[in-house]
Amino acid sequence: MSEIRLQVQNVCKTFGITKALQDVSFNINKGEVHALIGENGSGKSTLTNSLTGIYQKDSGKFILDGEEIHPKNQVEANNAGVSIIVQELGTLDGLTVAENIVLGHEDRFVKMGIKNTNAMNREANALLKQYGFDRIKASDMVETYNFEDRKLVEIVKATYFDPKIVVIDETTTALSQEGREELYKQMNQIRDKGNTVIFISHDLPEVLHMSDTITVLRDGVYIDTVRSADIDEEGLK
Ligand code: ADP
Ligand code: MG
Repeated sequence: MSEIRLQVQNVCKTFGITKALQDVSFNINKGEVHALIGENGSGKSTLTNSLTGIYQKDSGKFILDGEEIHPKNQVEANNAGVSIIVQELGTLDGLTVAENIVLGHEDRFVKMGIKNTNAMNREANALLKQYGFDRIKASDMVETYNFEDRKLVEIVKATYFDPKIVVIDETTTALSQEGREELYKQMNQIRDKGNTVIFISHDLPEVLHMSDTITVLRDGVYIDTVRSADIDEEGLK
């Protein structure tokens, strides 16, 4: 029996007259890659942005390992064990690569009011190396890198602290084959540790290949959750 990691219970979210999420309920397990699919505008990002504190849901509950969470921002979500690689640009100009990676957790590098930039850069460079992203340097300003490389920085940022849930929202479209392979490796590692990936992608062969479970949303409404092994591309249309 798989153990439940996240219960999504009756979640609703509106933007003006748009009902982006209508009473959405389903469960996500530990140790799985759980894909979210559905046409553009079906509410996938609204759901994951609400889970990670970027949006505030109107009603409903997110229950993580038996306890309700309601993060007001991404740092609170991180502290609850949930991180996200957002669909849009998720790194901030004006900060270095290292500052982006540790954003919200800089305190770890401050002693007696003094920030130890060298220690922060050392740790960020070690992480980048470990992920195989050696060409990215911790002390460079993040805006000197292209969109793909900035997504790679986000992959490090979202995964290095071993979160219980990592949301990956349409990241693969921004990546080259090499970047995708690296992301797939990270996804498998997260699953193997017993943690959970919520994987949003338009690429159905990729979804079928990488996920254990698939939940389908349509126009903000929950449709179904199926095991990836039991379905093919035709069945998902
Ligand atoms: P998906 O990620 O599945 O493509 P979204 O969650 O982005 O879908 O969008 C669901 C609906 O909510 C769409 O109709 C979209 O236009 C609307 N929506 C999403 N975010 C916002 C926002 N910040 N402001 C207004 N409307 C939004
Ligand atoms: Mg989206």
